[in-house]
Amino acid sequence: MKWILFFGALIGSGICDRETFSGHQVFRINIRNEDEISKLNRLVNSDNLKLDLWKSPSTLGHPADVLVPSFSLQEVKSFLEDHGLEYSVAIEDLQNVLDSEHQQLQRNVRQELSNNCFNYGAYHTLEDIHKEMDSIVKSYPHLVSAVKIGHSFENRLMYVLKFSTGKGRQRPAIWLNAGIHAREWISSATAIWTARKIACDYGRDLVITSILEKMDIFLLPVANPDGYVYTHTHNRLWRKTRSVNPRSTCIGADPNRNWDSHFGGVGTSNDPCSDTYHGLHAHSEVEVKSVADFITNHGDFKCLIDLHSYSQLVMYPYGYTTSRVPDADELDMVARNASKAMASLSGTQYRVGSVGSIVYTASGNTIDWAYDNGINTGKGLAEPFSSLIPSPIGDQKKTFCEVNNRYSAVLRPGHACVRGKPLKFAWRKKHAEFPWRRRDSQVVPCGQADTPRLQLYPGSSFGPDEFHRAAQPLRNPSEKLPRSPLCLSSDQVLRILAKNEKQLSLLRDLEGLKPQKVDFWRGPARPSLPVDMRVPFSELKDIKAYLESHGLAYNIMIKDIQVLLDEEREAMAKSRRLERSTSSFSYSSYHTLEEIYTWIDTFVTEHSDVVSKLQIGHSFENRSILVLKFSTGGSRRPAIWIDSGIHSREWITHATSVWIAKKIVSEYSKDRIVTDVLNAMDIFLEIVSNPDGFAYTHSMNRLWRKNKSTRPGIFCIGVDLNRNWKSGFGGNGSNNNPCSETYHGPSPQSEPEVAAVVDFIMSHGNVKALISIHSYSQMLMYPYGHSLEPVSNQEELYHLAKDAVQALYEVHGIEYIYGSISTTLYVASGITVDWAYDSGIKYSFSFELRDTGRYGFLLPATQIIPTAQETWMAIRTIMEHTLHHPY
Ligand SMILES: [Zn+2]
Ligand SMILES: [Zn+2]
Repeated sequence: MKWILFFGALIGSGICDRETFSGHQVFRINIRNEDEISKLNRLVNSDNLKLDLWKSPSTLGHPADVLVPSFSLQEVKSFLEDHGLEYSVAIEDLQNVLDSEHQQLQRNVRQELSNNCFNYGAYHTLEDIHKEMDSIVKSYPHLVSAVKIGHSFENRLMYVLKFSTGKGRQRPAIWLNAGIHAREWISSATAIWTARKIACDYGRDLVITSILEKMDIFLLPVANPDGYVYTHTHNRLWRKTRSVNPRSTCIGADPNRNWDSHFGGVGTSNDPCSDTYHGLHAHSEVEVKSVADFITNHGDFKCLIDLHSYSQLVMYPYGYTTSRVPDADELDMVARNASKAMASLSGTQYRVGSVGSIVYTASGNTIDWAYDNGINTGKGLAEPFSSLIPSPIGDQKKTFCEVNNRYSAVLRPGHACVRGKPLKFAWRKKHAEFPWRRRDSQVVPCGQADTPRLQLYPGSSFGPDEFHRAAQPLRNPSEKLPRSPLCLSSDQVLRILAKNEKQLSLLRDLEGLKPQKVDFWRGPARPSLPVDMRVPFSELKDIKAYLESHGLAYNIMIKDIQVLLDEEREAMAKSRRLERSTSSFSYSSYHTLEEIYTWIDTFVTEHSDVVSKLQIGHSFENRSILVLKFSTGGSRRPAIWIDSGIHSREWITHATSVWIAKKIVSEYSKDRIVTDVLNAMDIFLEIVSNPDGFAYTHSMNRLWRKNKSTRPGIFCIGVDLNRNWKSGFGGNGSNNNPCSETYHGPSPQSEPEVAAVVDFIMSHGNVKALISIHSYSQMLMYPYGHSLEPVSNQEELYHLAKDAVQALYEVHGIEYIYGSISTTLYVASGITVDWAYDSGIKYSFSFELRDTGRYGFLLPATQIIPTAQETWMAIRTIMEHTLHHPY
């Protein structure tokens, strides 16, 4: 007991004299009308209550949040009750939340030191953020540099990360700003994550790459360094700068009211003690002046984005007035797209509008200044944005190191203090809305170091200099830099062998329990078939625990997806260089949509006697939907339709079709069967049946399956094009949730990619066979998918499938299983081949190509040719049968 008291006293008197918020509460107040807004404003503005307005009572229907000190609780409650204002307590004891956050920080510091890594799933001190900025520069020396822009009031260095491929040339630029309000930690954490992300994605992500080919990006993660340090050392809720006011004992100005645009106007205060104090004059705050000078001197900024928290808003100028800027329409559209993009990730919804119209009028703010400068000086600050609470990063936050136990951990002096109730703290779920921190579950632990090897460095009472020396080995430049797991998704593919129907349904439940987290590569079908699912790194622990707790045995099919993605990308890049130098097309590598479309043009030009190109429609994003027509004459001859790539991530199917196109041409007049077929029939080959999705698998998400259609009011993107057909539409094995991977769409053929094929085949009217190519699983199947009932020529289709699979097997000894879709695989409604069969196409088949799960959708390019060769023999068998059995 005595020991504890002593410990407490030490802390109270020592390095940790932080402001305490014991018993302070955050009230959430419902605002129903204008009258209530003015009542609330009256309350908030009353000096003696010392209220801190966290979230303004701006728009009706959106609650206001107010921090109420313990000594004002009674008075505030009476006021609210007397005036009939509805409220709830959002945070019961702020100090508890702060304590929990503080503990989390300390835990993370220990973990980072034991792992030698920066955990992107945690908050950091200014010093640590600066170190990570240095590390990014070191990791990407040809892309990223550190540029000094000035010093803060307390003489801290301010520098930005500059991302540039311009080799010193001045280019139009984008400014990303965060942490101008010190307590909005999530904005700085998001900025540093974004810095790593930009660096990683350059050369990987099409959008970022093309931006950096033309523009520079400047990123300032901590725009108010003094305030930020103060939130760590003294007062977690500090907002302003730390400048000393000659006329007042109150410290600091609101740097987001200090800009030279309607300085001192509405929404600012001239009281130095106010949290929205505008400062002595415009740009009186050196932090603001440094940024303003840098941007002005540069003279070619096109866009400025300022990150704040919280409220989930994307806003544009003006703040000083509710009237619209001349570019309001454009800015609004861009903001809406940004909001939509955020929602598509995990459903988080952001509202959109101008600052003045959706939050409050605030003069002298960053983005008004940016906008006015661009317009007035012609320097083109065209798209200034302010985003309250930046993107939901929980899911994408990754840790940055491999476990490394070579270094002993060092307990840092600044973190040796524990305050509050260190031993008995429980995070309360109902307080999960606390805005400046994220719940534990959203924070990804760094590495696997569950038991960090803690060891106090000799002489543990050292100061910061000693700490630096002690920490030196961690930052030895000759050490190999840790591989960056932001580039590393570290997702895994797990295989589960369900023993019975009950276990299958436990797996099916996962889609509901973990919406959009589990990606079934092979869905739960029947006990004899394995289930493969991709699980994001952040969910691995949870999902494995779920499986174990239900007695579901699993093994890891792919330990680290990113390794395969990297290999695939490297192989593509290598092959592309070779293709350029030899001006040839490599059939043994994967290609982008543009490359395939270019190849189509060359191909039809070279073989115009047999092949032509038809455009049968446009995709949702307006890309051409192309079909190759192989024909030796005649009109409306009986025809065979082959499509591939309806699921965009199934890259082996596009590659196989390209190879087959060439094969058909080269075998004509050589191979008896091909010659006979083409003398009597036409072949239509749709290589890329889902061009938008396919383009997206190259630019953004290799594992995208659906198309890219969007609908007003629906946040998730895309429809499963193999559930959008009329036959059995909406039935079992399809999903009416737009976020599902098997979403069937609002109505049959709602998707232009499906409608184009339906229109083409129906108006042609003489298609006799249809072959739809998918991957993976090694199966050849025929209708029905939507029903267990056998089709009328089931016997014939069964024997034909058997022959085709035998022909396939003879090429490389690869075994396929075959049968009707519903009995071989699973019940699936609204699929291509069911529609084809019901539309009178007797020979309708669906392939699932290689492999059986070793690589799944990420089949190495070295398997393209063998896969195409064997598939071709099976297709040739079906074509021959069709030719000889006219109907
Ligand atoms: Zn802010
Ligand atoms: Zn598929």
